[in-house]
Amino acid sequence: MKLRVLGCSGGQIPGYNLSSFLINDSLLVDAGSATSVLGFKAQQKIKNILITHIHLDHVMGLATMADNLYGNCASTINVWGINDVVSGLKSSLFNDTIWPDFTQITGESQGWPVLSFQSIPEEKPMPIGNSTVTAVRVNHIVPSVAFFIENSKKTLLVVGDTGPTEKVWLMARRKKNLSAVVLEASFPNRLQDIAEMSRHLTPRMLAQEVDKLRKPSVPILVTHLKPQFRNEIIAELKRLKHYHLRILKQGDTLVF
Ligand SMILES: [Zn+2]
Ligand SMILES: [Zn+2]
Repeated sequence: MKLRVLGCSGGQIPGYNLSSFLINDSLLVDAGSATSVLGFKAQQKIKNILITHIHLDHVMGLATMADNLYGNCASTINVWGINDVVSGLKSSLFNDTIWPDFTQITGESQGWPVLSFQSIPEEKPMPIGNSTVTAVRVNHIVPSVAFFIENSKKTLLVVGDTGPTEKVWLMARRKKNLSAVVLEASFPNRLQDIAEMSRHLTPRMLAQEVDKLRKPSVPILVTHLKPQFRNEIIAELKRLKHYHLRILKQGDTLVF
């Protein structure tokens, strides 16, 4: 399994792209920066997109990608989310007001819709492309999930934006072939009140979550650092010496 980090920032300033991960060139997990990083041909290779939650920093590229591909889309792209995510995408983004409904539009140059929204059940493995994907609810200010993505006997766990949570760790503990976990640290420790209010993690809170996993050898790929606090968060993460942490950088490609 090849994981390419298109963006892993919890905010956008030049040089810091919003959350988006590309798996084996055809499966996208969140779409924050998909169109600011991927060229047109790479966008055309995407067949499936998993959306953890509908916050703008995770779906922006979905809107712009649909617009880019209209008239040049060989097959409809399936956009997967839990029911709350699908209904939110329909009512709040692709609602023909803030952006056209690209699940409906066809014409002479585009014989089928560019996007199709697909509901993924919670806690039930679902074949998507060459992977098996399981969505598990986490703890964010809007409905949000983690995705277990299983491929060639390896499992990658991508946890969406979250505060302290339980179920996903319970399930992750049972996975024998867990290769890595993508987990957020949005705020520095001194801003724990904001992290709690907005259901995010600080490095101290991240360590408490990692303890729940009880798999010290599994690397934790840290994401979603707010760029304005990045140096402070990194210094705090580096002090967590007993944890197997890797702070993700955009442009990273990891192979499991
Ligand atoms: Zn969010
Ligand atoms: Zn976010």
